[in-house]
Amino acid sequence: MIRSEIAFQKCISPDCGTAFGVSEVHVACPRCGDLLDVQYDWGRLPVPGRLQEFEQKWSHRHDPLSFSGVWRFHELLPFAPPEQVVTAGEGQTLLQQADGVATYVGVQPGRLFLQYEGMNPSGSFKDNGMSAAFTHARHVGAQRAACASTGNTSASLAMYCAVTRLMKAVIFIGSGKIAYGKLSQALEYGALTVQIAGDFDDAMVRVQEVSRDLGIYLVNSVNPFRLEGQKTIMYRVLESLRWEVPDWIVVPGGNLGNSSAFGKAFSELHCLGLIDRVPRLAVINAGGADTLYQLHQVRGVRWQGGRGDMAAVDEYYASLDREHKKASTIASAIEINRPVNLRKCLRALDCCDGVVRQVSDQEILDAKAQVGAGGIGCEPASAASVAGARLLAAEGVIRPGERVVCILTGHQLKDPTATVAYHSGDQQKFDEVLGSRGIRCASFANRAIAVPNELDQIIHAIESHS
Ligand SMILES: *Cc1c(COP(=O)(O)O)cnc(C)c1O
Ligand SMILES: [Zn+2]
Repeated sequence: MIRSEIAFQKCISPDCGTAFGVSEVHVACPRCGDLLDVQYDWGRLPVPGRLQEFEQKWSHRHDPLSFSGVWRFHELLPFAPPEQVVTAGEGQTLLQQADGVATYVGVQPGRLFLQYEGMNPSGSFKDNGMSAAFTHARHVGAQRAACASTGNTSASLAMYCAVTRLMKAVIFIGSGKIAYGKLSQALEYGALTVQIAGDFDDAMVRVQEVSRDLGIYLVNSVNPFRLEGQKTIMYRVLESLRWEVPDWIVVPGGNLGNSSAFGKAFSELHCLGLIDRVPRLAVINAGGADTLYQLHQVRGVRWQGGRGDMAAVDEYYASLDREHKKASTIASAIEINRPVNLRKCLRALDCCDGVVRQVSDQEILDAKAQVGAGGIGCEPASAASVAGARLLAAEGVIRPGERVVCILTGHQLKDPTATVAYHSGDQQKFDEVLGSRGIRCASFANRAIAVPNELDQIIHAIESHS
């Protein structure tokens, strides 16, 4: 480790813990293969004494760094000097009090909030992390950046490449598993798009090999700098709650970057004395892609200071291979069976007294319809957080008076296919479009009504439906 550096990378394994400078590029510890963190020598940094001080940045919104919902919190992710920071106006998000959703979930009105990350420039929370990864990529002089993606990471990468013109985007996608809203972004923003004959987990393996061989900068969430940007989602939640810590943060779990980043954010704020307690964390898997649930909830795998039972993890992955089990859920953004940030997520669950649940595709789509009925729609994966909160409330784990924040990770228009098929209320059509998955589409369907092109009949149809 270069001791003079105030920011450095550090292996998360307690048995290794090797440190590297921030100018090095690694996606795993070269010594032991574990994940890397970005860490800081906080004692030598000017961290504000109170979180309220960040609000002063609002009066400097003409400055792109103060405008950014990520870099407004630069002092809490100070791995690059301000003049090197890359921003595309990310993080202008909203925390919506959603009373209808509260009733659906089973908590008191006024106690449930939706953190809407769909307002980001590329329409998902990925922009928070991408601005940070891009900042690091520029710092190390990268020319090309790559990712494997279920859609939103590639949309975000392509956007940052197109907006900043700093790098060329290379994206890896699986076959047939990408929502059109997301693919359309990558194509239109000009990314080189490589479609692999395989699923996301396959694409993830390949992109790491290709990046290594061609020296392309990798922006998947194994990139520790990306997670630094995603910490700011929690800062903005706290800011919207006037810096009061909620009781629960509920987040969908895919590659587990968000949950890992949230745990790191709260752990650091707590160590810095900027909050007096951490919220509880609930990570929600889709039933068809439930590795974290199987390991944490069913098999009892825990962080244990970094020495948890990783043999159980290897065994579980071997069983997936033996049974040729592939991830399968309508929530394509979390259709992942080998979450790369598993160990960091276990650490976050440990720090935040966390729980893990899984929900069915039916519960996801029904929750999505409830979220949409409140006027801020989301894509299927996002609604897993609301469906999970409902399950936890039914179990009595979340109590009715507790303050709950569900993260809506992506914009509704990312995946209109599922939404339109659901609201058709036509089971046959639904199964045709989305594959027969045993989902009943009618629960909260809002059907279009078909009428002949006759004034009388149109008027009659409107009167009899309203
Ligand atoms: C990437 C993504 C997720 C999964 O987040 P992880 O950090 O990989 O767990 C969930 N929802 C949406 C919309 C996403 O784009
Ligand atoms: Zn190591």
